[in-house]
Formats: sequence, C-alpha cells, structure tokens
Amino acid sequence: LYLKGIELLGFKSFADKTRLTFEPGVTSVVGPNGSGKSNISDAIRWVMGEMSAKSLRGANMQDVIFAGTQARKPLGFAQVSLTLDNSDHALDIEYGEVTVTRRVYRSGESEYYINGASCRLKDIHELFMDTGLGRDGYSIIGQGKVNEIISGKADERRGIFDEAAGISKYRHRKEEAERKLLHTEENLVRVGDI
Ligand code: ATP
Repeated sequence: LYLKGIELLGFKSFADKTRLTFEPGVTSVVGPNGSGKSNISDAIRWVMGEMSAKSLRGANMQDVIFAGTQARKPLGFAQVSLTLDNSDHALDIEYGEVTVTRRVYRSGESEYYINGASCRLKDIHELFMDTGLGRDGYSIIGQGKVNEIISGKADERRGIFDEAAGISKYRHRKEEAERKLLHTEENLVRVGDI
C-alpha cells in the first residue's frame, strides 16, 4: 500500500487544481514559512475522514475552502482526491488502485467517493481502519503529537496499539453491535409499556 498521488482543488491555499505525484522512496516537501506545506498533510488527513476542524487548524469545516486573496475570489467548494496503490490488497477492497475523494460546499454539505462511486463517511472510515491510516491512524505524526502520545492518557495510547495490532475494526464493530442491542432493549421496554 503506498500513496501514489493527491489532487487538491479549492482546498486551503490550493485555489488551482494541483496534482502531486509521489514516487516510491522518500518525498520531502520544502518551502518557506506559510507557503502551504502543512496544508498538504491537512488535505491528506481531511480526505481520509478527519472530522475535527480544530485539528485542521480551522474553526469550522468550511474553513478548508479557499477563502480568496486580494487578487482572487473565494471558491464555493473544496475537493481532495487521494490515490493509493492497493496491489497488495492492504485495503480490504477488490481494486488494485483506490482513489478516495471528499468534497465540501460552503453550505456545509459533504460528499465522499471511493473510486468515483458515492459513499458514506462510514465507508471511508472502515476502509482505512486497521491500516494505520485514516482518522484514528498514526501514520501522520504532526508537530507536538509525539509529546501528546507520550504524555497522553492510557486509553488514548491503547487506541494507537489497537490500530497497529489491527483490532480497531473489531472493537468498532463490537461497540456498534452493543449500541444496537441497547437500542433493541429500549424498544422492548417500550413494547412492555404499551
Ligand atoms: P509553516 O512554516 O508555518 O508550517 P506551512 O508552509 O506549513 O507553514 P501552511 O500552514 O500549510 O504553511 O499554510 C498556511 C497558508 O495557507 C497561509 O498563507 C494561509 O493564508 C493559507 N490558507 C489557509 N487556509 C486557507 C484558505 N481557506 N484559503 C486561502 N488560503 C488559506
């Protein structure tokens, strides 16, 4: 599983459609302060399902949309597509190449796609679960994050180990099943009441 490329359109400082292609090996992004380096890693986290605007350095999710400059008008939506080589089938999906896309409009409406097919955020989360990527992954370690891991609470650290051990998916499914059982029990109580 490796990151082949990312395409940004209207995401933060990327007003024009920008495509970055990553070859095997190490890629470094170098540039002066404020030139938009962190916006690239923000885009990668965002397309993989990040829901915290704060961790994307914004107040709300629409803040990721290009806000305009003195010379350019703001844009109406932001879109990021991430392409991964899946020839080793590390992602539990039949395709040898996977492109996930996320789009957000100023109205707050969001859209998600896997290989061009519309899907739910939940599908994106489940696709990346137990791979170390995605919302709960540890593949992107930002400034200050190392300290957060070391000094964090035991159960937060546990989440990282669960993800690395590949059991996040099962824990997630168990929690979901427990929620549904609780809901069913509540329905049964209601039936009893009636
Ligand atoms: P640093 O050296 O501080 O880490 P950096 O190269 O990582 O900087 P970023 O923090 O990624 O840079 O980029 C910040 C730039 O992105 C700023 O110039 C900011 O104005 C611009 N920017 C952020 N959000 C938007 C937006 N919604 N619309 C337009 N420009 C934006």
